[in-house]
Parts: sequence; structure tokens; C-alpha cells
Amino acid sequence: MDGYVAKVFTTFIDVPDKISVAVYFSGCSIRCKECHNKELWDKKNGTLMSEDELLKKLEDNKLAEYVVFLGGEPTDQMDFLIRMTDRVKKDLKKSVALYTGREFEVLPQELLNNLELIVCGPYKKEFHVGGWPASSNQRAFKKEGTKWLH
Ligand code: SF4
Repeated sequence: MDGYVAKVFTTFIDVPDKISVAVYFSGCSIRCKECHNKELWDKKNGTLMSEDELLKKLEDNKLAEYVVFLGGEPTDQMDFLIRMTDRVKKDLKKSVALYTGREFEVLPQELLNNLELIVCGPYKKEFHVGGWPASSNQRAFKKEGTKWLH
């Protein structure tokens, strides 16, 4: 399966206290007024990549404990997102985090099974806080065993 990906790079801020590789999907149908990533609204601003091509890029960072999917809106490419989160867990044995403008309650179980950390809701400038998550309307969920803690 293929998906549109804009950029991949190492990050120290998206999962607190962890080294991560951030995967920015391109394309977002939510289109918040305050979006700070408007260049990623159009999926064509990314590159169409296969699962294997993306996995190869992620393999390059041996130190990263997490792979973080963000965008754009990763859940707009739900089938590709489920495939990639599954392969990151099984093939790379890394933990997986997701930033989404959608709410936790609408995420499919097939995706939730592959995640350890989720930040839900779009960044909103008027709710900016100087911490993590970046705006107070966003909700963070962490998996402990089989339970999600908020
Ligand atoms: S969901 Fe995220 S990427 Fe999409 S418009 Fe809102 S802030 Fe921008």
C-alpha cells in the first residue's frame, strides 16, 4: 500500500523525554482556521511512498524509541496509517504515537491496538500553553497495559 508523506525527521519534543522519528503525512480535510501547517493540507505536497520505502527511512534512526505520526491529518489516510503503525510495531519493534485533529472516540480499534500514545484535537492558538500538549483543548491518552489513561 502507498501513502502521501511530506517529511521524516528526528524529534525530541513530540513524545516527552523520548527520542522519536516524526512522520508528517500530507493532506488534511479538517482545515482548522488556526492551522500552522497549511502547506500540508494538500496531499500532493507530499511524496507518494510505499510501506517499504517509508519503513526503510525509519530504520535509519536506531536510537529512536518512538515513531510519531502527525501531519496534515494522518487519519485521512487511515488504511495506510493502520498498515504503517502495525509494521513499525512488528518489524521495527518501536513504540508508536499519533497526533490527530480527530477525537479519541472516533478512532478505530484496529488503529488503537497499534498505538501507545495519542494526542487528540487540533492545535488552537487561543488555547496555547507553554507545555505539552501545546494547546489546552488537546487531550493526551497513554496506554498502560490494555487500558487507555487520559
Ligand atoms: S487538523 Fe491539524 S493539520 Fe489539519 S487543519 Fe487542523 S491543525 Fe491543521
